[in-house]
Amino acid sequence: MTGIGDCEATPESQGRLKTIRQSDLTGQMLVVTRNLRFANLRDMGASHTEKIFVTGHRGMVGSAVCRRLANTDCELLTATRKTLDLTKAEATDQYFETHRPNTVVFASAKVGGILANDKFPVEFLTENLTMAANAIKSAYRHGVKRFLFLGSTCIYPRDCPQPITESSLLSGPLEPTNEAYALAKIAGLKLCQYYRRQHGVTYHSAMPTNLYGPGDNYHPEHSHVLPALIRRFHQAKQVGQPHVQLWGTGQPRREFLHVDDLADAIVHLLSLESPPDWVNVGTGVDLTIRELAQLVAETVGYTGEIQTDPSRPDGTPVKCTDVTLLRESGWTHQIDLQQGLKDTYAAFRQEVDTGKLRSA
Ligand code: NDP
Repeated sequence: MTGIGDCEATPESQGRLKTIRQSDLTGQMLVVTRNLRFANLRDMGASHTEKIFVTGHRGMVGSAVCRRLANTDCELLTATRKTLDLTKAEATDQYFETHRPNTVVFASAKVGGILANDKFPVEFLTENLTMAANAIKSAYRHGVKRFLFLGSTCIYPRDCPQPITESSLLSGPLEPTNEAYALAKIAGLKLCQYYRRQHGVTYHSAMPTNLYGPGDNYHPEHSHVLPALIRRFHQAKQVGQPHVQLWGTGQPRREFLHVDDLADAIVHLLSLESPPDWVNVGTGVDLTIRELAQLVAETVGYTGEIQTDPSRPDGTPVKCTDVTLLRESGWTHQIDLQQGLKDTYAAFRQEVDTGKLRSA
């Protein structure tokens, strides 16, 4: 990527921000050994069949995981919310008893923007907590040996040192606007860790940074910054709008990961015999919102002016993950932002053309 700063942990920053490995925290050695069973998933050439239940398979993350697993020899299990509401304990248990997956990728969640999170904390906490607890408990009860729980970097304290290391968990107050959601995710992550410690099952978690890609939500008010910019620049180009205004100064720095990279990282994590209890999944590279807007404008072909509105709030100045732990385990992202944006804009146009654009 050109012209874009990054927040990779340089030797200098590593000296400043002590990076504590999870192996230090748990006292366990992080043994990064390929599990041959799952190596099949990556190499796509074996005969063993793994039965993997991907929850939330119609969502952005779940559908990317299914696309990735479609290239392997595993048997894929999915269920819509209508078929299996994971907030219902009995139905969840029944599903596991009937279908008997070996592995679960937990990509279901009640997600929403700042407004929804702020207005309905009860629902965000209870639904996410219940879904996670039901799925993890039923998985264990029915012999699932491997469970990968998906959280997000909102689990980390609002003011934690940058780039964010895994050891920042529970080291300070959370961002109040999504505290309820984050608490549910922390509880899910911890429940996996406790099952692993108490019962010896490999239940572990991945914490992705901001994601983008096919199947994203383009709601005019509730979408995340990157899909919101794609929509706004696309519309501005269509109507010949002379300028597009960004909220705030455009100076906050953010990190973005293509959802297909996340799906690949998930398959990688499933291939590790002893994965970390939780691990950041990101690029370790950030850029300013202004730089991001410029890239989106170029991708869309918008040639008007990009303005900022400093009277609007900026939010946290920098948010970027430290991905050292994931890199040391043998995975790094493949899709750079420029290429990812091209693919995503192509998917956006196709979703518009086929009436499948998600904006709810
Ligand atoms: P989506 O909203 O796209 O998908 C959520 C999925 O969860 C949907 O398929 C939905 O099912 C399912 N679901 C919701 N409630 C229930 C329920 N009660 N029972 C069964 N299924 C349910 O979310 P994402 O794919 O974006 O997010 C998935 C995970 O990834 C979340 O944990 C999120 O925190 C994490 N993540 C996402 C990021 C992002 O930028 N998108 C960033 C970092 C983490 P249905 O389709 O049937 O309604």
